[in-house]
Amino acid sequence: MFGLFDDHALDSFKKSGEIVAKLRREVPSIAKPGVAAIKICDGLEQRMRETGGKPAFPVNVGINEVAAHYTSPPADPLTIPPGCLAKIDFGVQIDGHATDTSVTVCFEPRLEPLLQAADEALANAIKAFRPGVKMSEIGKLVQSTIQRFGLRPIANLTGHKIERFNLHAGKSVPNVPGMNGSRIEEGEVYAIEPFVTRENAAGTVVNGSSAYIYRFVKPKGATNEDSKRVLEYIHSNFSTLPFASRWLGGAFEREIAKKAIYDLIRSKCVSAYPVLVEETGNPVAQSEHTVLVTRDGCTALTGP
Ligand code: MN
Ligand code: MN
Repeated sequence: MFGLFDDHALDSFKKSGEIVAKLRREVPSIAKPGVAAIKICDGLEQRMRETGGKPAFPVNVGINEVAAHYTSPPADPLTIPPGCLAKIDFGVQIDGHATDTSVTVCFEPRLEPLLQAADEALANAIKAFRPGVKMSEIGKLVQSTIQRFGLRPIANLTGHKIERFNLHAGKSVPNVPGMNGSRIEEGEVYAIEPFVTRENAAGTVVNGSSAYIYRFVKPKGATNEDSKRVLEYIHSNFSTLPFASRWLGGAFEREIAKKAIYDLIRSKCVSAYPVLVEETGNPVAQSEHTVLVTRDGCTALTGP
């Protein structure tokens, strides 16, 4: 036993983290200008299955001002443009035990400092992350690190506690100081993820007009047979973890799946995560690791 987890849970988190650490190292050779976003999403998700895990959520490809929650829809024409930065955010789950990470790749030298600031803020947060420390202290540290680069954190995106089949388990890890009075406890698992933008940006994200990632909410309320079948499929295959419409392609015709998702969102059986975009259109870098809180510090499960 360790903290809240039995040995099986702990082993699953560790194994998930090892797979993620391995796949992190493959990202730079996969995510390059001219490569289709859907190839990156499908490819990494396939690699997760080959290496003994399952995607904890659809692979996110966030180009420039797209901060989070973009995954390729079916037949996505998007390719990685030249001169951009792109956040490849992904996670692996084993029996519902998930670890979450993000690698930012950069093809524009002038955007490199955003990456460096995100990496350094994450490294400093990990060094300070131990039982008893207030979350607001972590937020202060992340912000001050980023400000030393003459840059700005995204104030309304946070890291999050992870529990089995629950990626956002209540407690959050802020990237700015504030009123967050909760404290870190031994045996908890957290994703820590500083997001960085330019100093003159708003430093906040807003909902974009589209959503490509969804999550099961409740089993009752589908209004027709197709929607019921799709909902059952979602619940039995992805449980309460996020999924992409792309993942329904093997089981349902695209138009049927599309209509069913629309219907399931309206009947509140499924919720949608809109794409999150920096409010002033400025580029955003992100650095993320998942850590396990130990007695006197934490261990990065997803690698160094
Ligand atoms: Mn992530
Ligand atoms: Mn995360």
